[in-house]
This record gives sequence, structure tokens and C-alpha cells, in this order.
Amino acid sequence: MDILDLEDQLSKFIYELETEDRLVRVGLKDTAESSKIYKKYKSIFTEKNLSEIQALISKTKNPGTRDIYKRIYFTIAGSFIGLATASSEDQITTYFSGAKVKVAGEEIPYYELMPRISKDTVFEKRERLDDAGTSVVSKVNSKRLKLVQDELKLIKKLGFSDYVDYFSKGKKMDYAKFYKVVNKITKETDKIWNKVMFQVSQEVFKRPFVNIRSCHLAYLRSISMYDNYYPKEKVVPTFLKWTQDIGLADLIPSIQIDDRDRPKKNPRAVCYWPKPPEEIHLVIKPIGGEQDFEALFHEGGHALHGASVSVKLPYTLRALAHSNALTETYAFLLEDMVFDPDFLTSYLNVSSFTGNKIKWQAYFVNLMMLRRYLGKFSYEYEMFSKGAISKGPLLYSKNLQRTTGFITKRENWLADMDGGFYSADYLRAWISAAQIHDYIKRKFGKKWFVNGKTGEFLRKLYSRGVTDEIEDVVTRLGYKPWDTSYLISGYRDVLGKGE
Ligand SMILES: [Zn+2]
Repeated sequence: MDILDLEDQLSKFIYELETEDRLVRVGLKDTAESSKIYKKYKSIFTEKNLSEIQALISKTKNPGTRDIYKRIYFTIAGSFIGLATASSEDQITTYFSGAKVKVAGEEIPYYELMPRISKDTVFEKRERLDDAGTSVVSKVNSKRLKLVQDELKLIKKLGFSDYVDYFSKGKKMDYAKFYKVVNKITKETDKIWNKVMFQVSQEVFKRPFVNIRSCHLAYLRSISMYDNYYPKEKVVPTFLKWTQDIGLADLIPSIQIDDRDRPKKNPRAVCYWPKPPEEIHLVIKPIGGEQDFEALFHEGGHALHGASVSVKLPYTLRALAHSNALTETYAFLLEDMVFDPDFLTSYLNVSSFTGNKIKWQAYFVNLMMLRRYLGKFSYEYEMFSKGAISKGPLLYSKNLQRTTGFITKRENWLADMDGGFYSADYLRAWISAAQIHDYIKRKFGKKWFVNGKTGEFLRKLYSRGVTDEIEDVVTRLGYKPWDTSYLISGYRDVLGKGE
């Protein structure tokens, strides 16, 4: 086994896998065939290679080199699992992109349901659309459960005690400690969340916040009252103009933006890094409104990060991250810009009066999403740390209901879970983005988003690829990892107004 050759093969494998995934996701390819790619490279995803790398790790003294070997180890371990599960995953992906439902006599592709729920102003109709979606999801639940069970078996086969043990080591995370942080954030935002949610429910749903189903959360997320300030045709141009103003426009040629509307295109925006820094893809399906701008700037954060990665770094530090908390933080930083009243005045000609109203609304939605992820992580952690997979549906519904207040269907327990505690990556990004935001504002001023120095600062962070964990970055900037005070005071300052 030659580790450099292995690294080179991994880069080719990832290129092919990312490309395949993207083509299906954007609706340009009907059948997902990632299992073919896993099979093509199967000679590297072996237990023999894994134990040889493990031996290499234990005899390597240099911490930087050890870290690189560990990343390669966990990439191969993940692909060793992927090799066994890819064909089932492909079937699920293909199933969803082709699924259709009938609602009130009309045939609707599955991937059109969520955009419709997000925009339909009739309360009852949103529930009918949601029920149709549930019937599609329920059909693959047993297949998804089997995938989780298979994954657990393979994790044990590789010598890890359980799911938590495997991802703690792979992602360099203390999930038990993080679970406490999550509970603390939940408690400290309980009061403000209940207050604003009860108020919004009366205003928007015209009913008290009792027994409201979570499909209405999707509607609140993309609430239409400010849509005319965020025209669909301005989404991409605004992002491009901003990259010019901040001095990052030179990165755009490496980023291919796909904002086309195709019926089979998955509505969830995404960014691919098949070959950083040369080839990056940003995918979005605009439906109109603020949510599109958030999605594009979020993915834009990932894309600019990927396009800035230094070519001097070895491939592993360009692409093989321990976790995605770092790049999610860079995504959140840009996403949050689109509801900053100063940004709105500069780019979308919005008055500061309206800008502040938009900001309140956006903070409300942001807190709603945060509460959703607090619930998602606590459910996943409780389920996997206790090995209580059979309690999953109940824990999912109970925890989500506890944090969001919305009635949450048990059927979505696996559909609403991204593997490997991705929910924790997001939550770490939420905490860290609030800290970096504080730093940037103090250092580059209120109009930091048009200050070329912010651009230089970001480019420097981005250029380190995936070398750091986000907690290393905030420490270097003078903050304490997982200090949640910046995050929480943000909500209190904005949503607590008018009491
Ligand atoms: Zn992201």
C-alpha cells in the first residue's frame, strides 16, 4: 500500500462520485449509479488497507502527518461502508426523483411538493400536500432502516464500539459534551422562542400555537410578505455584484452556477467540490423570495471557500475534512448578510424601516431553524448513544416537538436525518458564525460586507482549505469554542425588541 497513490486514487473517486451525485440531483440524469463508481474503486476500500493505515498512524510521530493519515483512514472507512450501501442508496435516490403524487386530482412530482407547501397560503391545502409527501416517504422507511442497521454492523466490524464512537473519532468531536451545549442553547432560547412563535402563529395562521403541524414550519420559513423585495431574477446577479465589491470576483470562473428549473431537480440547494480549487458547482432552484437569496449566499460561501483553497496544500487538506462545521460556518456568514438592513439598502434598494422588519422576520426564521436542529441533534444523539434505534421514531417526534412546538410526524425520522451527526456540524457553525460575525463587525465596521479588507480576511481563511476545525479558527481570533453567548444575545437583541 502506497499512501500517496491512495490519496491520488481517492481524489479521482471523489471527482466521479460528486459529479454523479450532482447530475442526478439537478435532474439531468434519471438513474443514480453511484454504486458503479464505488465498485470501480473497490480495491482501495478494503479492511486490509484500513488496518495498514491504522498501523501507519500508530507509528507516525509527526502530528500533521498523523492527521493526514487519519483523514485518509476515515474517508476509506466511509467508502468501505458506502461500497456496501451504495446500491440501496441509489435506489432511494432514483425513487424520490421519479416519485409522483395525486393531490385533488392533480399529479405532482415529489420534488415539487416542498416548494408548493412553502408557498401555498391555504392552511388546509398545505396539510394535504404534506400528507401526500408522507405517503412517498413511508414507502422507503424500511429500506432506510435497513441501511442504518447495515451501517452500524460495518462500523462494529471495523473495530468501533458504536455509531457515536466512530463519528467521535472521525470528526474529532466529544458528542456527550456537545449534547450538554445543545441542551443549554435550548433552555436559554426557550422563553424567547415561545414568545415569538405564539405571536407569529396568531398573526400568520390566525390561530393559537396549539397542535400546528410541522409542514407549516416550511411555510413560515419562506413566508411571502417580503418576496417582492427579493426578485427571483436578481438572485444570481446580486451575488456576482457582491463578489466584485468585496474583491472575490476572480474566484467566480471556477464556480459553475446552476439555477435552472427542472421538474426532477431536488429543491434543496447544494454546493459540490469535485476538484477544489479548480472546479466547484453551486446548485440552486429559485422559488422566489428571501429564501432563495439565503440559499444562494449560503452555497456561495461554500463555493468561494472551495475556489480559494490553496493549490499548495496536499489533496487531503484541500478536500478531506474531518467535519463540515468549518465550511458550514463560512456558508452561514454569507447567508446572514441577506437580511442585514445595510446590505438590503445597498443591494436591493430596501428602506431601513423595511430592512429592520425583514431582519426581525429573518431572525425569527433563523431561530426556528436553530430550534429544529437542536431537536434533530438531541434525537440522533439520544438514539445512537443508547443504541435505541427502535425508539427512533418516537424520539424524533418527541424531541422536535419539544424544541419547535410543531407536531412532528414520526414517519419522517429517517428522511429528516443526515448521517454522521451532520446536525451537529450545523450547530457548531451556528455558534461559530455568531462569533466570527462579531469579530468581523468590530474589525471591519458596520459595512463589513462591502469592505475589501473583509474579502482579504475571508480569502485567507478559505485558502487553508479544510486544514482547521472551526473551533481552531475561533480560538485564533480570540474566542472560546462553543461560547454560545454571541449566538443567544443576537436573538435576544433582535427578537426581544418591542417588549
Ligand atoms: Zn451548507
